[in-house]
Amino acid sequence: MRVNRHNIWSPDNNLDGTRRAIIKLNSNSINQIAAGEVVERPAAAVKELIENSLDAKANSIEIIFSNGGKSLIKVCDDGWGIPKEELKLAMESHATSKFLGDDLTNIQTFGFRGEALPSMGAVGNLTLRSKELNSEEAFELKVAGGKIEKLRPAALERGTTVELRDLFYVTPARLKFMRSDQSEARAIIDIVKRLSLANPAVDISLSELKPEYGAKKILKLSAVEDNRGQKKRIGDILGQEFIENSFSISEKTSNYSLSGCLAIPTLSKSSSVHQYFFVNGRPIKDYQLSSALKAAYFDFMSKDRHPMAVLFLECRPSLVDVNVHPMKSQVRFKNPQEIRNLIVSSVKKNMLESGLKANSVLGSKAASSFSSGYSIRSNSGVGKFERPNSQGEFLTGNDLSLAARVEEDINEKSFNVEHVSDSFRLGAAKAHIHENYIISQSKNGLVIVDQHAAHERLVYEILKASSIKQNGCCQMLLLPEVVEVAPEIQLVFEELFESLGKLGFDLESFGSGAICVRGIPAILSDSNPRNLINDLIDEVIELGTVESAEAKIDAIISRIACHGSVRSGKVLSGQEMNKLLRDMETSPNASQCNHGRPTFIELKLSDIEKLFGRS
Ligand code: ADP
Ligand code: MG
Repeated sequence: MRVNRHNIWSPDNNLDGTRRAIIKLNSNSINQIAAGEVVERPAAAVKELIENSLDAKANSIEIIFSNGGKSLIKVCDDGWGIPKEELKLAMESHATSKFLGDDLTNIQTFGFRGEALPSMGAVGNLTLRSKELNSEEAFELKVAGGKIEKLRPAALERGTTVELRDLFYVTPARLKFMRSDQSEARAIIDIVKRLSLANPAVDISLSELKPEYGAKKILKLSAVEDNRGQKKRIGDILGQEFIENSFSISEKTSNYSLSGCLAIPTLSKSSSVHQYFFVNGRPIKDYQLSSALKAAYFDFMSKDRHPMAVLFLECRPSLVDVNVHPMKSQVRFKNPQEIRNLIVSSVKKNMLESGLKANSVLGSKAASSFSSGYSIRSNSGVGKFERPNSQGEFLTGNDLSLAARVEEDINEKSFNVEHVSDSFRLGAAKAHIHENYIISQSKNGLVIVDQHAAHERLVYEILKASSIKQNGCCQMLLLPEVVEVAPEIQLVFEELFESLGKLGFDLESFGSGAICVRGIPAILSDSNPRNLINDLIDEVIELGTVESAEAKIDAIISRIACHGSVRSGKVLSGQEMNKLLRDMETSPNASQCNHGRPTFIELKLSDIEKLFGRS
């Protein structure tokens, strides 16, 4: 009796449950299956075609698409072309000019699998037109749904042009999986940007063809060849704002070289899509690399934010396996830990060396919000000013009392700092407003410091340094405090006693269910020890699943830095404010608090002058 164990659902299922003989798939089926992986969506086809042009040493590549690449993808290059007699072979599966013997560990080209053109030809209408360098004539070959037509002469000035129409018309099921035109177009733009970042010496243009208004240019990138080429290309693609708010990195070890540009922590993003990784010039999406980056920014950014970054890693081909996935967008490293260490240490080092940096975007945002705010009318009498209320009406009389109060306040707390050395990056404190913001005059303009965020950062750096050097200074309490804790939390605490001791805590267990606090870090001596320990307990509970003691201590440092910092609301004297500014100048990583929020913003004098119509 036949038992149908695998009940595959299909009304016209032709598997009747009996065994069939093994047969070899025909090449068209093989190509269709490969197409599912290699050219999974239009952007993947674009990537394969551009990479073919780069492998042919093109200096200029033009890409055109329609309907998110579903109806048309066209890539034209000026590379070395394909000889007439090899055109047909180029369309056959597993045929390639890039395979150098048996050594898959020494791949120097983008392609090597010989799958892209036949896959595209199996699921779309493909025309390959090419003129070999030094040849007088050009030829073209069409493939539709896997059927190769006859070779024909073609009109083409140079290089190779590949036209792919109606991708997936042969496999309607796959076509249904395509996203909207806009979303496929976005993926195409993203991959073209990635490839362009890695190839600054190539002219690259990308246009979308729309029946209503013809070709619309999306990108037009001119080749840049000198040493600064890479940075120029990064600016062309990611914008000047990124260049202004980033730092460069260039490190070499015996095995690897790492270069690129990374955003300062205050220019963070809510997702990691703005991270561009390249391994030997190949755009890569790799969890290990983004996790290394996350670790490098750990001290400067909250967990849900992501740094913007363009990072190029170069190494001998034998140290990285690119043959992990048909799309070659993932790799396997021979020494992943070495790469992680390199990324973490060099990003931290270069960020530190880049010094105090105010986010220029915040400065201009602040300037524009000033300019869109209230206007000042000059016809209302000397020394009097009016401003519109929320309805846009001008206030007069008593309504002005608030403004007057603010003015008085500033006068009262203005400080006569006789001599401000231009070398003080953050200038001299001039006023303290809303009990949290220090207004300071710097050489280039005006600086506004968030005292809480700034102090939090300073305390964090000191605690972190004590934890590393294991020399935290302890302030003994006159009367030890006993704090109750749940027994399971007490156990976790006991494991951390030693590390907390290095920060300057003096803690011990007090029977079951209590901790005795004998001393706290000197830098936190203003804090209430009981509140401090309760804060630590909350952090330990939140960290429940974090395994390593080191990670726990880092998180604890962050928590108590916030706890022990000058709260907004505390009134600071002129001296205290200037001390904070000087400490910020000498402390590492002082431009942002531990959550990646800026500690200060800067308004350039030129922006202020613009606001007053002076420039
Ligand atoms: P692969 O790139 O893995 O070799 P493809 O199917 O993408 O496989 O291409 C097959 C071959 O066709 C390549 O090895 C190359 O010799 C040739 N070819 C494809 N595109 C181009 C191009 N734009 N310029 C010159 N040669 C090309
Ligand atoms: Mg290829």
